[in-house]
Amino acid sequence: MNAKLTPGLYIVATPIGNLSDMSPRAADMLRGADVIAVEDSRVTAKLLAYLGIKRPMIPYHEHNAERVRPELLARMRGEAVALVSDAGTPLISDPGYKLVREARAAGIPVTTAPGPSAAIAALTLAGLPTDRFLFLGFLPSKAAAREAALREVAGLRATLVLYESGPRLGAMLAALDQTLGAREAAVVREISKKFEEIATGTLAELAGRYRDAPPKGEIVIVVGPPGEQAPPEEEEIDAALREAMTRLSASRAAAEVAEALGVPKRRAYERALALK
Ligand code: SAM
Repeated sequence: MNAKLTPGLYIVATPIGNLSDMSPRAADMLRGADVIAVEDSRVTAKLLAYLGIKRPMIPYHEHNAERVRPELLARMRGEAVALVSDAGTPLISDPGYKLVREARAAGIPVTTAPGPSAAIAALTLAGLPTDRFLFLGFLPSKAAAREAALREVAGLRATLVLYESGPRLGAMLAALDQTLGAREAAVVREISKKFEEIATGTLAELAGRYRDAPPKGEIVIVVGPPGEQAPPEEEEIDAALREAMTRLSASRAAAEVAEALGVPKRRAYERALALK
């Protein structure tokens, strides 16, 4: 099919590994576009050659976006402009959100051929809870800024998804372990490519594994949510109550211990009366 597309912006997801992951509809959008806005024309040229598509490309990346965006928006009024990134879904740790926002504000139709994204693919491979997740993209490489970003999300009951490079993986896993504590995690590498690999374990185990062995290729880190704390044992509650009752009445001691150990007030009070 080579149907001409109506004018507008077409956000087209492309493979993150195997080129045959390209959907037929996504390929049709590229084939039918008047022009394709690309991050790196050398990368997209390979995909177009694989698909047997010849369309003009305009580079659109973080260094020229401010200059090129007005031209792309002007073209969208009369032409179909497709937007791709080097791999995966545009706008996800890739350029494009201002283009979409401004196209929408200008009343230009915006649509998408959805497809691969490393974050979602890694989540499906990791075997960690997927009901609630937070995508963090690339965190800052400087230690202090990275730790501040991690502290901000440490208390969230959500699986975390991060992009990272091989040389920085060990330091990132060590920082995750220090800031988030004992959690299950997965390092997912080279998804949909020949050397696809998944390593799972606690953050401490993974930090140890990659400390002196930075892996090659593209990487997503998935970190499970904080575990439920084991409920305190009776002896722990009793010990805390005995100490608190040297200072407080039974009812106040029970309230303090209930709060500190996260047990129901009634249970703490009953134990306090039994110990009295
Ligand atoms: N827009 C892309 C997407 O939807 O996944 C992400 C672009 S971001 C600039 C590139 C990062 O995505 C890589 O550094 C890596 O962390 C991750 N990534 C991309 N392809 C991957 C793959 N095949 N396997 C693992 N991670 C990948």
